[in-house]
Amino acid sequence: MIYADNAATTKMSRKAVEAMLPYMTEQYGNPSSLYSFGQKAKEALEDARERVARCLGCDKGEITFTSGGSESDNQAIRTAAHLGARKNKKHIISTAFEHHAVLHTLDRLKREGFEVTLLDVNKNGIVSARQVEEAIREDTCLVTVMYANNEIGTIQPIEEIARVCHEKNVIFHTDAVQAAGHLPISVHEQGIDMLSLSAHKFHGPKGVGALYVRRGIPLEGLILGGAQEKGKRAGTENLASIAGMAAALEESCTNMASAAPKVAALRDRIIEGLDRIPYGELNGDRIRRLPGNVSFCFEGIEGESLLLLLDDKGICASSGSACTSGSLDPSHVLLAIGRPHEVAHGSLRLTLSEETTQEEADAIIRAVTETVTYLRNMSPFWRDLNTGKRKHVFAE
Ligand SMILES: *Cc1c(COP(=O)(O)O)cnc(C)c1O
Repeated sequence: MIYADNAATTKMSRKAVEAMLPYMTEQYGNPSSLYSFGQKAKEALEDARERVARCLGCDKGEITFTSGGSESDNQAIRTAAHLGARKNKKHIISTAFEHHAVLHTLDRLKREGFEVTLLDVNKNGIVSARQVEEAIREDTCLVTVMYANNEIGTIQPIEEIARVCHEKNVIFHTDAVQAAGHLPISVHEQGIDMLSLSAHKFHGPKGVGALYVRRGIPLEGLILGGAQEKGKRAGTENLASIAGMAAALEESCTNMASAAPKVAALRDRIIEGLDRIPYGELNGDRIRRLPGNVSFCFEGIEGESLLLLLDDKGICASSGSACTSGSLDPSHVLLAIGRPHEVAHGSLRLTLSEETTQEEADAIIRAVTETVTYLRNMSPFWRDLNTGKRKHVFAE
């Protein structure tokens, strides 16, 4: 099997698994218990918090553990919105190509009376600080823009956006789920007020994440109950997973400088290979993209059929995000960068990791090239394109 869907989830690293084992076996104490067996668990919890904070360039008191990226996004956005509402600021700025964890939270807030401006994304899949600046109003309480997009891998100018937000005294949150462990992060230096991450996107366990919130911003609890996480996230801590996340984040951050260029070289090899397929185009900026992201649209094919045939050849790929599979609507991300519906349906996302090899990259190029040709030969839509009944969208 060739696994090329690392934006959906990653394989856990050996170090992450090993870091978890003690808390699933002998060290099963509850961090809230007062006896020393519980206090040892508490120490492990705080040690993990310290290590996550160090990787992000913040203080440990600014880290809250959550169940993953979705929860962190929900909590950050609702916190900033409700803080704003108290000062009668009920306008939020985001982008059209955020993850659904952000977009659906914003939809809910709209029903609560907030106004949301979703910025357009340019055809390269990037929003500019200028656009954010122009959209900020007197009553804007929050700007939330993702660090890197999960479908097309484009990297946003978050430092510039943070600067604009600070000039106007607006809270800046970033969904960094695709960036954490893959791109450098230093929240204090970058001027980020809130940041979401999720362990399973950087070789940690599923179902655990973290939320960084700058000191001074009072976090709103979504899950009420016990006093865990300073009363901001009730429920007995998932200590094994938290320890696994800390180990995985440290490992990814330590290896980033050597891993990223290697992964990016394979990414570029695949992009060059797939660029030779006629009537296809890379989605998103060629340079400002995640080291492991390859995303293409091909005319005259259905992304779903391509995925199934690639699966037959042992290749795990995706058409957009895992969250949109099963829905027949084309990806909101591809529509946001201006892909017409019929082309957005013919998308393919390949996301690599440090474990991807050159042989695998070449096998992917061969399999995709063959399969696209095969599908086109069967497609009445493709016949119409070739006979001139329909117009091509892309150049040959
Ligand atoms: C995966 C992902 C999420 C959701 O994270 P979970 O831990 O699966 O809840 C949110 N945002 C982005 C950009 C993602 O890629």
